[in-house]
Amino acid sequence: MSDAPRIVLLPGDGIGPEIVAAAQRLLEALGRFEFDERLMGGCSIDAHGVALTDEVLDACKGADAVLLGAVGGPKWDTTDPDAPRPEQGLLGLRKGMGLYANLRPVRPSPALVGASPLREERIVGTDLLVVRELTGGIYFGDSGRDGDSAHDTCEYSTGEIERIARAGFEAAQRRAEGSGRRGRVTSVDKANVLETSRLWREVVSGLAGDYPDVELDHLLVDNAAMQLVSRPAEFDVIVTENLFGDILSDESAMLTGSLGMLPSASLGEAGSPGLFEPVHGSAPDIAGEGIANPLATFLSAALMLRHGLGRPAEAEQIDAAVDAVLERGLRTPDLAAAEEATVGTDAMTAAVLAEL
Ligand code: NAD
Repeated sequence: MSDAPRIVLLPGDGIGPEIVAAAQRLLEALGRFEFDERLMGGCSIDAHGVALTDEVLDACKGADAVLLGAVGGPKWDTTDPDAPRPEQGLLGLRKGMGLYANLRPVRPSPALVGASPLREERIVGTDLLVVRELTGGIYFGDSGRDGDSAHDTCEYSTGEIERIARAGFEAAQRRAEGSGRRGRVTSVDKANVLETSRLWREVVSGLAGDYPDVELDHLLVDNAAMQLVSRPAEFDVIVTENLFGDILSDESAMLTGSLGMLPSASLGEAGSPGLFEPVHGSAPDIAGEGIANPLATFLSAALMLRHGLGRPAEAEQIDAAVDAVLERGLRTPDLAAAEEATVGTDAMTAAVLAEL
């Protein structure tokens, strides 16, 4: 029997297949893995009429980890509420695999600080983690149309809030370990308006006593959106609900100057497989051109090794190799300033492999 970890690859649509193939090369260079490539997203709609089949979901649940590219594209864009949509595959995976915590680290690479839309003095020192609740809230509540009106319902239970808040407090503890500083959790809600947010604040505050080494503060989401661009370096861990987290994590993503650099991890209960994917979408505008930036997917593979497979040393190797190629000045077009020379996906991948 093989003891190589079994990884389900879900390349998806657009640039997904290009960046996932590059990540597979990277992982093959690091060690032995058993890969099982499956359809999910628009490509699955074309083949099976649904974005995620039960068979693929079962394969994911039975794997050691799942590495995803991205899904979606104009081909499947529709306002018909009954037509299948690629995103249904993502939501189905999150729900089906019980992935309730989405972790998005945001730490601009020193070589890329100049690429941030913010002034350098604002961005320097930024190293934050957005912990987003992933399986509750308005994305999963009752929704529907009634004549010329429509509704989406936001619901949260104490249990749902408690487990994501604990994920946030524990992440803050891990990040502060050995640093001599206290971890800090900023819980983001809209408690001045929403009842779910008042319950959220109550539950998160009630847990703080279990984590005396972590400082807790609360921010309203509109204020958090402003603070993220005015003083990003002061955040440590941000914990928030699904919809707010979706928006704030994309805002944080732009702090680095390129979506093409940001990895994410979605985790469930201990011992169950996690899902690892770049934050960016399927970039249909550049699909097939060989210029997609594979680095966010490489960093997602590093998160997979660290959080999904318990192989932190290889994760470090990837992180260091990515930093090294950026230090050497290699840039895919999305990272490059107007006059800078650029490389494509293959050359970037080869350069990272050479640094391992
Ligand atoms: P996007 O992230 O795909 O693209 C935004 C811009 O960033 C584009 O100009 C694109 O070329 C560029 N870009 C993104 N990733 C890049 C990379 N790795 N290398 C180089 N450039 C990159 O967002 P969008 O345009 O809003 O959405 C396109 C499609 O992706 C839509 O169908 C959307 O629904 C889908 N989407 C999927 C996911 C996911 O699968 N998790 C996330 C977001 C959007």
